[in-house]
Amino acid sequence: MSEPITTAASLPITITGLTKTYGDAKALDHVDLNIRSGEFLTLLGPSGSGKTTLLMTIAGFTRPDSGSLRFGETEVICTPPHKREVGMVFQSYALFPHMNVAENIAFPLTLRHLPKNEIAQRVEHALETVQLGGYGQRGIAQLSGGQRQRVALARAIVFEPRILLMDEPLSALDKKLREHMQIELRHLHDKLGMTTVYVTHDQREALTMSDRIAVINQGRVMQLGDPETLYERPASKFVADFIGDSTFLPVVTSGSEAVCHGRPLALPPDTPIRANSFLMLRPEKLRRLENGDAEAGMNIFNGTLKHIVYQGDSVLTQVTLPDGQVICMRGASQPDPTEIQVGGPVTLGLRREDTILVCDD
Ligand code: ADP
Ligand code: MG
Repeated sequence: MSEPITTAASLPITITGLTKTYGDAKALDHVDLNIRSGEFLTLLGPSGSGKTTLLMTIAGFTRPDSGSLRFGETEVICTPPHKREVGMVFQSYALFPHMNVAENIAFPLTLRHLPKNEIAQRVEHALETVQLGGYGQRGIAQLSGGQRQRVALARAIVFEPRILLMDEPLSALDKKLREHMQIELRHLHDKLGMTTVYVTHDQREALTMSDRIAVINQGRVMQLGDPETLYERPASKFVADFIGDSTFLPVVTSGSEAVCHGRPLALPPDTPIRANSFLMLRPEKLRRLENGDAEAGMNIFNGTLKHIVYQGDSVLTQVTLPDGQVICMRGASQPDPTEIQVGGPVTLGLRREDTILVCDD
């Protein structure tokens, strides 16, 4: 058994005021982002939000209009890609079909003119690190999607980069393999310890893998935080909507109170009451109340049952409020059909501490 590859040291990445425009489109709009040494940071955002542009700028393939990019203390904005010592995994694998697995992985080392025996040794280590030991002589066409992605990963880490960049590397894989690879990639990161910037548009993938997530929209960082903070305390309606399932009920302000559906809301202490707020309703935070089992300070929503959706691991109950808006509750089990019928009354409760207001920004 050979030892796994370990990196010499990881590096923090400091991004300040990065801007990139294509014609009228602002792909990056004054992006500031401090990525910690050794952390797994995910750029999460919808298609066209600027994730790839930001990653390509870090890699050196895209030159920004203005701004600063530092690896550790070193400004690298004018450093060409091959001198940045950054490992990169693309969505499309970008493997060379005419080379076998070992030749593909050796490519970055061949470019760096390493001695042949050292190349062979490092390729073998990289293959073992991605659990493809013994696959060196296979052709690329003989590999499954997941194996190809691991070869791409081995090629990215074979020269022991201090920074690893991955752009939607799992998006071509089916759900089961994708979920398996998410855990594997995270383990690999923990083993190698390099600063990793990962791009995805899949919020669940981001929540699963990341130390911190930067939510990107229209070339701007909307919020940076750990998964729990982003999910539980989104800073805006955009972030609340993008991460997790929610419905939003409009809130009006009346003096120092926030009023929703004609009732003042019980809110956690120190909630700022701002104009144009919305109440964020996560399905798993709502629960159905039987006669009188509301806790003190709970917010109550009366409606009628619209539909019950059995989803295997959980049950989604849709409730129509008097103004016609539909809210959803997720529970572990089927409600008793003798107590609750389509069109019949349903009361849902939301605990005060789960009552979160968000605003458009
Ligand atoms: P994402 O990776 O989040 O889907 P991109 O970074 O690819 O987003 O794109 C951000 C914006 O910049 C989009 O509006 C896209 O059309 C535009 N864009 C990206 N690359 C180019 C390019 N080479 N030429 C023109 N427009 C581009
Ligand atoms: Mg992209």
